[in-house]
Amino acid sequence: MFESDLDRDGSSVRLRRREFLLASASAVAGMVLWTLRKPRLVKATTSKELPQEVTIVQFSDSGKRLKKVRVPLVVKTEDEWRRELSPNSFDITRHAGTEIAYTGNYWNLHEKGLYRCICCENALFSSDTKFDSGTGWPSFWAPIAPENIRTKRDTTFGMVRTSVSCTECAAHLGHVFDDGPEPTHLRYCMNSASLRFVAAI
Ligand SMILES: [Zn+2]
Repeated sequence: MFESDLDRDGSSVRLRRREFLLASASAVAGMVLWTLRKPRLVKATTSKELPQEVTIVQFSDSGKRLKKVRVPLVVKTEDEWRRELSPNSFDITRHAGTEIAYTGNYWNLHEKGLYRCICCENALFSSDTKFDSGTGWPSFWAPIAPENIRTKRDTTFGMVRTSVSCTECAAHLGHVFDDGPEPTHLRYCMNSASLRFVAAI
């Protein structure tokens, strides 16, 4: 880079080198600033932030509570999840996406049954607590067992919300709000694409 200056005097080379170093330092500082200013990407909770073993309550497909168990956290690579899930379910569960209201499979479903995690089959909600919220997303006033979901403060998109994820695999499921019906006054606003419905037998 400096060879062309070697036929000139040494000071020119030193000057060029100093300019180059200054320019490099500015570039690095600029990159740091750019990185700090860049909006945070929405990401699902990573397994590094979670315990490797979790407690969940197992349920039969007919909705019968079976037992509380300790199981390993389900951890898979991005490629594995991408292969196993539809593009929509992958985006929502693994990257905290949100489906468009009134487009999912379950917002208007009134059948009796159980809603399991689309990623790991963990039981999440029962039709017994489902209600018509008028939002276009499947809504429940309680999870099937508090152990089976996790909640976390979510400040993305300039809003303060509480996100809900699956305890067993950390899949993003949706958000919970405090404007639900009795008896809890909570509204678990879920994405259909995070759930798999199992009709009661
Ligand atoms: Zn799960």
